[in-house]
Amino acid sequence: MARRRITIFGATGSIGENTVDLLTRQGGADAYDVVALSGGRNVARLAEQARALKADLAVTAYPECYDDLKAALAGSSVEAAAGTDALAEAADRPADWIMSAIVGAAGLPPGMRALKHGTTLALANKESLVTAGPLLLATAKAHGARILPVDSEHSAIFQALVGEEIDAVERIIITASGGAFRDWPLDALANATPEQASSHPNWDMGQRITVDSASMFNKALELIETKEYFGVDPARIEAVVHPESLIHALVGFRDGAIMAHVGPPDMRHAIGYALNWPDRRDLPVARLDLAQIGQLNFRPACEKRWPALRLAREVMQAGGLTGAAFNAAKEAALDAFLARRIGFTQMAEVVEDVLGRLSRDSTLTKSPLSLEKVLEVDHLAREAAAEAVSALAS
Ligand code: NAD
Ligand code: MG
Repeated sequence: MARRRITIFGATGSIGENTVDLLTRQGGADAYDVVALSGGRNVARLAEQARALKADLAVTAYPECYDDLKAALAGSSVEAAAGTDALAEAADRPADWIMSAIVGAAGLPPGMRALKHGTTLALANKESLVTAGPLLLATAKAHGARILPVDSEHSAIFQALVGEEIDAVERIIITASGGAFRDWPLDALANATPEQASSHPNWDMGQRITVDSASMFNKALELIETKEYFGVDPARIEAVVHPESLIHALVGFRDGAIMAHVGPPDMRHAIGYALNWPDRRDLPVARLDLAQIGQLNFRPACEKRWPALRLAREVMQAGGLTGAAFNAAKEAALDAFLARRIGFTQMAEVVEDVLGRLSRDSTLTKSPLSLEKVLEVDHLAREAAAEAVSALAS
């Protein structure tokens, strides 16, 4: 097979590091041509990765970090660049496989841009599908590009659907660990701190998605992601709490059969599947001993405990730009919670308030979906969220 050209957006994050780990195990610079790696303020680590993988280009998202990145790359052949335009330029560089692992709506523009070059986009950035699903899929289609899901649930669904017709699917069930507070009494949630919300019972992930797991906003995003990527009726998509996080998703077919995807909670499985697709290669994930595990548990995903799930249903029903508003409001609410301006349960209040305000006229559902419109709604939702936060914080 020809050497593949690889780019990683968000290389220094949790998904990015796991991707670098797999690439390194599969031969690193000897086996792949690494085109570009991007990161944020952690320029020392970005430079280290770029040197080790002999990347052509390293990009920090922040212009003020350019000098440090340049200094960290001194004496190497890696080019340094910074800022949004540099990320776009990196997305324009020809590559065969691109990992989209920036966190938040910031991951959308580079991924969208890369698709226009007909690449394969391994999509960890679920926000891209939540904010602009139909646009992302149409762009991929128009340019002969492919999107491979990396979120563990969606990789699981994708794998369960190999050789199947989507019309034969009756239901899709994604599992949720329940996050940090799944066993807390309901009335204690209001006082949960960012520290308490930042530890996950099963998965080791970036801080933002870990807090989103505790609030179930992560599962809310994933329900929408499922609808957008697989194109199924929202009524057929369910979430169930599964504390062990060993089954990642289940697909039920019209004949009553259910295919479950089972594996350890290690993102290197889903990343490695997307990296090696359509082949399978050995991956360094733990092998399950089912007799040792003994039992798997399930319970309903309670919308009273996790109002984010109810909001996700409303977003899926409304469609259009509602996902962009939902995601931006969620990101702003999360920032406010991490900054201790609002309480844990107030995040959902902020998001609901923003959705209410922005859906008063029909802008969210009637405007055609374009990247400009998505970014505009993102901006409006963050402004509305800032007002909602101020009202709650005063
Ligand atoms: P992370 O916070 O660990 O890493 C984020 C990466 O994006 C870093 O490289 C950071 O420098 C970069 N970044 C942050 N803000 C940026 C900005 N404004 N512009 C450009 N770059 C920026 O996040 P993560 O946990 O690796 O998650 C990455 C994405 O993958 C998210 O969309 C998340 O929902 C998704 N995801 C993560 C996991 C997981 O196990 N961590 C699982 C499934 C899906
Ligand atoms: Mg997931």
